[in-house]
Amino acid sequence: MKNTKEPGNGKETNMTNIVAPAKDASGDLRALFIESLKDIYWAENALTKALPKMAANATSPLLASAITEHIEVTKIQVVRLKAIFELLGEKAEGKKCEAMDGLIKEGDSILEETVPGPVRDAGIIAASQKIEHYEIATYGTLCSFAKALGENDAVQLLTQTLAEEKESDMILSDAACSAINLMAAENTKKGALKK
Ligand code: FE
Ligand code: FE
Ligand code: FE
Repeated sequence: MKNTKEPGNGKETNMTNIVAPAKDASGDLRALFIESLKDIYWAENALTKALPKMAANATSPLLASAITEHIEVTKIQVVRLKAIFELLGEKAEGKKCEAMDGLIKEGDSILEETVPGPVRDAGIIAASQKIEHYEIATYGTLCSFAKALGENDAVQLLTQTLAEEKESDMILSDAACSAINLMAAENTKKGALKK
């Protein structure tokens, strides 16, 4: 292994960047599949607690109800994940998803950093879409893992959830929500005129 000095910080670095696996590291796709299910199970549970705050801070009734509806959908997704664990003969347990934890924290900061009204609503849409996109990526991967493993019942359940996440993303993107961005932009113009 070649060690060299990294330019800039002068620290000794291993150029190969190869990471040694942990003792409990996944050795096959099934194990990785189960680990990924635990990750999203944690994430969905965290969302059932985080989304009500997003909904409560939305000014647009349309946005608030879109998020409230997605809370109900999320609860169903948690139940669906439990069913998948059962299908696989595995215990339903969560493992902290660092990405979702970060996305939820980012959503909280956006609330603090915006004035209630269209601007905060635009921020809530942005934070929510980042969350949905993470879920779409995750369920897309889980579907292909399940397909490769021949877990067809799991594929069916995961496909349902994937479709729900995509729909939620579409609702957030749709014309009504774009109207929120236009209103927020209107605020910008008014602010500019005052100066
Ligand atoms: Fe979800
Ligand atoms: Fe994750
Ligand atoms: Fe979602």
